[in-house]
Amino acid sequence: MTHQEIMAILEETGAYLKGHFRLTSGRHSDRYFEKFKVLQHPKYAERLCAELARRFSDVEVDVVIGPAVGAIIIAYEVARHLQARAIFAEREDGKMRLRRGFEIEPGERVLIVEDVITTGGSVREVIELVEGTEGSIQGVGLLMDRSGGTINLGYRLEALVASEIVSYMPDDCPLCEEGVPITQRGSRNLWVV
Ligand SMILES: [Zn+2]
Repeated sequence: MTHQEIMAILEETGAYLKGHFRLTSGRHSDRYFEKFKVLQHPKYAERLCAELARRFSDVEVDVVIGPAVGAIIIAYEVARHLQARAIFAEREDGKMRLRRGFEIEPGERVLIVEDVITTGGSVREVIELVEGTEGSIQGVGLLMDRSGGTINLGYRLEALVASEIVSYMPDDCPLCEEGVPITQRGSRNLWVV
């Protein structure tokens, strides 16, 4: 898939919107991403995840893992294309763990997936978790890298979209200056926080 095809899907599903948004951080932005707007459509989730799987077609993968909740669907779809297992990690008492009988055997080849990263917090926790099982991490696959490609997780990283966060302090917001009406966004489902 080309970058244009990927962006067209994100725009068509309303996952990628332009406007004037107040984020949970208090900062203002001219765009936001709401991942489940696209992931709710199996036909689009399938295409995006097939593309993500294709980017790792040169490595062997036994198991795909992502952090709950956003990456559950992504892990499942990517695993289907790689003919691997799909599992997810979730927080219990504040710590990322494998529950529900999920296991990674030492030496198993693991692909980590996530919807979006900005600083990589959840992904880093999953990396630590997988390292603790002695699984062999083959890389990290993302729908969106909001760090603009500057993040270093210590493993190969593939992102369908890479862009830097553009956000402004309210006092310094060009959209406010233009008098563009603001929309309150910033639930935890949003890709920009
Ligand atoms: Zn503003």
